[in-house]
Amino acid sequence: MNDTPSFSRRGIIGLGLGLAAGAAARPLAAAPSIGAKRVLRFAHPTDIHVQPERKGAEGMAACFKHMMALDDKPALIITGGDLPMDTASTPEERSRLEWNLFTKVLRDEVPSSVPIHHTLGNHDIFGRDKKASKTTGSEPNYGRRWFLEQFGYQRTWRSFDQAGWHFIILDSIDLLPDGDEFVCRITGEQLDWLKSDLTRTPKDTPIVVFSHAPIMSVANYFDKDDEEWDTQSPDLKIAAKRMHVDCRDLDALFRSHGNVKLCLSGHLHLLDTCVYNGITYICDGAVSGAKWKGSKRQTAEGYGLIDLYADGTFQHQYMNYGWKASK
Ligand SMILES: [Zn+2]
Repeated sequence: MNDTPSFSRRGIIGLGLGLAAGAAARPLAAAPSIGAKRVLRFAHPTDIHVQPERKGAEGMAACFKHMMALDDKPALIITGGDLPMDTASTPEERSRLEWNLFTKVLRDEVPSSVPIHHTLGNHDIFGRDKKASKTTGSEPNYGRRWFLEQFGYQRTWRSFDQAGWHFIILDSIDLLPDGDEFVCRITGEQLDWLKSDLTRTPKDTPIVVFSHAPIMSVANYFDKDDEEWDTQSPDLKIAAKRMHVDCRDLDALFRSHGNVKLCLSGHLHLLDTCVYNGITYICDGAVSGAKWKGSKRQTAEGYGLIDLYADGTFQHQYMNYGWKASK
């Protein structure tokens, strides 16, 4: 096993990928100052896509074994969504097999003393594609209900406080009326809740936000495989299924609150960091790499490990857990 993080930085330094646009007086997020007190270490494994094929379940187990064998273990785990390989376009029996695999591996590898929270991914919405999944919509666990029941949640979005930080978990997936396709954005009841949750949070409490799809990501420009890349097209386009189309609204909302420090996501299976208006956005790779077929582009199988500090700063590392994809 390789314990060496392939990617590490302190707090966030602008680096080449940072978009340092906006108010000149607004500093890029600062690194923890010398003597800053670390208040929490948590892990952010995303896009696990567990399945029996290609040793996906063994891979998931290896990831959590690696995490729990660290000398300095995380005290909290927040998954980033897309937990089974796919339940959106997969019949019920096979979806159940994948969910059962997910809960079994988690139960076997993570002590019950470590709290775990889950973010909803697009592949966690059962029967979204009715034709492919052979669903009618009247199944008791149709749509988000399976995910909610699985974890005993009332809603797919929620928040909590821990170690002096406020954690907000969002549901990125806005299903279009036909229920199959989706757009990444926060609307309706969830948006009202988010606004009031931010208002309720004291201004001196730092905030970390989780969403399955990135609110902002430069890795989107590398999302397609090279052979799919249209070199003749002069436009760089980002699909509404790949990043939040409401990024401007969320940026404005976060700036108006003033204490959102870090936004973590998955979905792209790529690792990147953007800093925009003093907020750091990290797309945190994937536990499954390219769905258990090896690295996705240059991002190998791994998980995020984040240290939070009392002064509102943080450190992020991407931990490769040494997985070798099977043929
Ligand atoms: Zn996804």
